[in-house]
Amino acid sequence: MRRPSVRDDLALHPGYHSPQVDVDVRLNTNEAPESPPDGFRAALADELAAIDWHRYPDRDAAALRSAIAEHHGVEPGQVFVANGSNEVLQTLCLTYGGPGRTVATFEPTYALHSHIPKITNTAVASGERTDDFAIDLDEVRRVTAEHDPTITFLCSPNNPTGMIETEETIRAVADLAPGLLVVDEAYGQFAPWSALELVTPDDPIVVTRTYSKTWSMAAGRLGYLVGPAWLVDELSEVVLPYHLDAFKQAAGRVALRFEAEMQARVATLVEERGRVSAALAGMDVTVWPSASNFILFRPDTVSGDIVWDRLVEHSVLVRNCASWPRLDGCLRLTLGNADENDRFLAALTDVLDPANLESA
Ligand code: PMP
Repeated sequence: MRRPSVRDDLALHPGYHSPQVDVDVRLNTNEAPESPPDGFRAALADELAAIDWHRYPDRDAAALRSAIAEHHGVEPGQVFVANGSNEVLQTLCLTYGGPGRTVATFEPTYALHSHIPKITNTAVASGERTDDFAIDLDEVRRVTAEHDPTITFLCSPNNPTGMIETEETIRAVADLAPGLLVVDEAYGQFAPWSALELVTPDDPIVVTRTYSKTWSMAAGRLGYLVGPAWLVDELSEVVLPYHLDAFKQAAGRVALRFEAEMQARVATLVEERGRVSAALAGMDVTVWPSASNFILFRPDTVSGDIVWDRLVEHSVLVRNCASWPRLDGCLRLTLGNADENDRFLAALTDVLDPANLESA
């Protein structure tokens, strides 16, 4: 028997990986540092007991979409839900991308914004940011004029830089983008403003969100977008029937009952962000301003790879971006709880100590 070969266009691209190492302090994948609040598991257990397991789930996820809509003050018809915001992005590419169509990204940004187009056989036009990672409107004008993208991705706050776009910039990109503008707000709750304000019933602008960060539900794989109802209807035609299981629909609703607790946790992480950023500013590293739950930094006196290795020796894992295009030597720290952040700062201080660097 002959094995089938992988689609030619897919074979060219490496997959997306986030290496895991067995350490005490894991600060590498931008998750929440804590499990959901007390009460979440019990409330969820009650909901699960009521599931008709022999039946397919509600295909429209109506109750979940209503709860999310109420949370954001929009109509349920403006909410599309899927298995993680990655699946939301994939459904957007399946619906509005595909052969002969192009997605625009501005690099460096979230790797899946170009990886998902590739697996959906959509061309990617990669624009550049400025040297300090800001969106350059002249570059947006060039890319949109040259490539006529059906989807333009922005990520705000941007992963992995942590930087947020201003309302003025997002409005300007929306004016330049010839098709759909997707603002990925996976980290939106940590930022001072949200592009949700720009979503209207008509304009082709959507904002994507996830339960993986603020809602401490990365294990549950749930994400959504808020956009015009006509677009949600179109996506619903493309996604697989019953793609969102009953368990997840319940978990998403229950999580929203704990909004006050989650806002308190966001406030704590924002405070930690200020504390850790200030500490980093006093060290031999370059730090970028973050509006997110992670911080990008670059050691000034030694390579990012060496610092990453030495941090692992201290049992602290951060994301190694040192060899990523445009991020030469950079590392990304996910903010943990205060103890974890202290462990990181102590380890980094030790690693960057000139006496310890002599052997580097
Ligand atoms: N967008 C961005 C910018 C992200 O950083 C991530 C997670 N790393 C996602 C989307 C995907 O989130 P989810 O877990 O909801 O698929």
